[in-house]
Amino acid sequence: MQNFLHYLTFPYLLQGCITALGLLFGALAGGLLIGFVLALAADSRWLWLRYPVRAYIYVIRGTPQLLQLILLFNVLPQAGITLAPFVSALLALTINETAFCAEIIRGGIRSVNRDQRIAAQAFGFSALTELGHVVVPQGLRAIIPALGNEAVGLLKSTSLASVVGVSELTLRSQTIVSQNFEFLPVLLASGVMYIALSALIAAIQNWCERNVGTGRRARRGAQPELRIDDPGPVGRMAPVESASDAHVPQLEIDKVRVSYGSKQVLKDVSLSVAPGEVVALLGKSGSGKSTLLKTILALNPLDSGSIRIEGRSLTSTGSGAPMPRRRLAKARADARIGMVFQNFALFDHLSALDNAASIPVRVQHVPRVEAARRARIALLKVGLKDFADHMPHELSGGQQQRVGIARALASDPRVILFDEPTSALDPELVGEVDETIRRLARTGITMLLSTHDIDFAASVADRIVFLHDGRIIEQGTPDILRAPKTPEFAAFLRHPEDDGDAPLLKPAMLEAAR
Ligand code: ADP
Repeated sequence: MQNFLHYLTFPYLLQGCITALGLLFGALAGGLLIGFVLALAADSRWLWLRYPVRAYIYVIRGTPQLLQLILLFNVLPQAGITLAPFVSALLALTINETAFCAEIIRGGIRSVNRDQRIAAQAFGFSALTELGHVVVPQGLRAIIPALGNEAVGLLKSTSLASVVGVSELTLRSQTIVSQNFEFLPVLLASGVMYIALSALIAAIQNWCERNVGTGRRARRGAQPELRIDDPGPVGRMAPVESASDAHVPQLEIDKVRVSYGSKQVLKDVSLSVAPGEVVALLGKSGSGKSTLLKTILALNPLDSGSIRIEGRSLTSTGSGAPMPRRRLAKARADARIGMVFQNFALFDHLSALDNAASIPVRVQHVPRVEAARRARIALLKVGLKDFADHMPHELSGGQQQRVGIARALASDPRVILFDEPTSALDPELVGEVDETIRRLARTGITMLLSTHDIDFAASVADRIVFLHDGRIIEQGTPDILRAPKTPEFAAFLRHPEDDGDAPLLKPAMLEAAR
């Protein structure tokens, strides 16, 4: 026992610990940094990048670490590069870590709900902002535990560095026992030191799990008293001043054709929506409603036709060329189209207030105080003034959807698109969302909403548009609901739910996130 305690505090062994720690944190830091880049490259849409990176990861993960270490240690000098044993061991361990970290990070990125990424893109987040403020904070929840595991494995692997002469903890223990044969106390002390280092990793992991990438609440405290008619750019109570001429369409869709592969889904769809007008898009599941909304947001390419928001095109540049991908985020941000998603697509790691403030802050670069003011007004307008600091999972479905509406409102939208906003809700929660949308409709905001609910469409819309098999085949005031002209519309009005429940996430939307 005395010997054990002696070795537990033996400076020679403690120095071995420090060397092991140096290898551990050095390789982990390098592995994380390079692994992050590799993770993005491994899922890149560019095949020339994706495949070589995946091959690299495959090879590194598939070969023994010891082999890599010995190879590097012996090959580099032949190429005229002489490194100290510690540096070459660090390099070998780092190379190995890059592959494992890349896969851990890739897994974390993939764990992030696609709907949220689509929402971020739809609102005009740049790729980098989406990564930094939506993907990484949420991906970390999956990454941190896996990384903790990886770090413990790496700690044990640092002992491999002894084969190239790095005097780390295992080698030092061996050196002592080869001289005095006190196997038990030396190796026991060495084992306890490894366990203590593992405990350090576990403590760091626990801290990270509690503090990094977890949901963020809005700060509580005294908030300014807001009134629903507080002046500001959110949910205007009067018709939109930027398009004061009611004859200039706010949204103009002209002969739009969209295909998925060889299947044409939108066939020469033309539709003008005037400022302040509320248009309800009716149609069976699969008729193309979601594709039309998605096309307005330039989330999928047009075969032909054009879409303009207050005269601005999202799909082509001023010279008529297709909008390059790299300019799309800015074009979407400038178009200021608010979107309310069928399945809410709230940012799970942000409070209701931060969700509502996310577009002003991240896309429109509005100062935080002003963004928070806008967000509070928007929450007030959807009846959630007292829920600002609630996280999405602390809200009912109806409340979550109202936060979704507040998020769209706080972006100061020219037009708000609603994609079947109540179809993912339990029947008893539909009413509160319907009522919120009806109230908004009366404030003069331009709206295009797709729905199955004929009564709701009749109560909210100035105009009904019926889409069938990718074509608009009837449209007019809600009176057309009483006198359908086409057998298709008549059949839909008799059995609007005939097509069964629409899927929670439309394939069109899923595709956009890829
Ligand atoms: P709605 O919103 O009216 O239910 P959608 O716009 O979602 O209709 O879909 C219209 C048609 O396009 C459907 O037949 C659907 O299966 C098809 N579709 C939608 N998205 C995709 C996709 N990404 N790939 C292939 N087909 C798709």
